[in-house]
Amino acid sequence: MIVNEEVAKATGALWGRVWLPPMCLKDGTREQKEEILRPACAGKVFVAFCTSEPGAGSDAGGVRTSAVLRGNHWVVNGEKCFASFSEGADLALLTTIVDSDPKKPTLLIINPKTKGYNIKRLPSFMQRSGHGHPEVDIRDIKVPADAMLGEVGQGFELTKDWFVEARLAIAARSIGMAIRATELAEAYAAKRVQFGRPIGDFQAIEFMITEMAADIMTGKSMLYRVCAEIDGGLDRKHAHAKASATKWYCSEAGWRVVDKALQIFGERGAMCENPVERLHRDVRLERICEGTSEIQKVIIGGHIRKRGLDVYTGWS
Ligand SMILES: Cc1cc2nc3c(=O)[nH]c(=O)nc-3n(C[C@H](O)[C@H](O)[C@H](O)COP(=O)(O)OP(=O)(O)OC[C@H]3O[C@@H](n4cnc5c(N)ncnc54)[C@H](O)[C@@H]3O)c2cc1C
Repeated sequence: MIVNEEVAKATGALWGRVWLPPMCLKDGTREQKEEILRPACAGKVFVAFCTSEPGAGSDAGGVRTSAVLRGNHWVVNGEKCFASFSEGADLALLTTIVDSDPKKPTLLIINPKTKGYNIKRLPSFMQRSGHGHPEVDIRDIKVPADAMLGEVGQGFELTKDWFVEARLAIAARSIGMAIRATELAEAYAAKRVQFGRPIGDFQAIEFMITEMAADIMTGKSMLYRVCAEIDGGLDRKHAHAKASATKWYCSEAGWRVVDKALQIFGERGAMCENPVERLHRDVRLERICEGTSEIQKVIIGGHIRKRGLDVYTGWS
């Protein structure tokens, strides 16, 4: 998370270069850990995560890509979209449902270069990250029967583990981008003179910077507290609950902060040569990817209903 925060100070779009092996690979077999997880940790193997589909964005339970076991191979058919870097990754975790049964969500480990994994389109996005979020048509790809993570039916549980880490990484990036934008805006406000005074002397500007600082302080405290709790052995359900709140708060705070930084720069904040212009485009997507802000609130509400407010308000 510290690395994500630091890299994002340059641009949030570089996250794909600090590749996180999907966390759920820790639940793989001994062979999968040796052959995939270790080299992935060493940065030698890139593993994409393909869940979203044209009909299954926020509603991940709507996945329809189907896997049918034929002899010693799965035969997979379906469509995926926005799976970051799956156009260039060495491997991908593919969310499927076995026998078209939504009660059997299952993660298969595929090679995206396999015949039948067809990149239909690489749309360009406001965040220009050097890797794509492709639309993919999957036609009769053959996957060895043992190239499965966990068991049939365990797909969503394992995906949630991936979400925990991916959401915390988004929080870390949002904070990194917010810090850089605030540093730039504060320095600019000290030297830009209007009405005979540096604009930082106007309380309207000073108050924006104070709000930015407090938003960063709050988000950063939350992020590293939750990370410390997870390092200390927090169980997977509470980790999931807290990662959602952290992702929601930090991505929204990151957006508020970077938007204020652009405002402080005036028109110069919108110039493409200004890093704040880039951070503004980068941070915007953090409120959408790995579950939108609305979906994080749906998740937080669900955890409160099931486990009580204490998950969020209790301190030990
Ligand atoms: C930069 C980026 C990288 C991504 N990388 C990946 C990846 O690696 N792998 C992958 O599988 N996917 C990836 N995605 C896809 C991402 O997870 C989805 O875009 C996201 O989950 C939202 O789905 P959607 O875009 O289809 O929006 P929709 O689900 O269509 O939602 C549209 C709007 O409706 C709202 N909405 C939907 N349901 C509800 C509800 N129940 N209550 C309230 N509001 C609701 C949403 O909040 C949103 O505002 C990536 C997306 C981005 C932007």
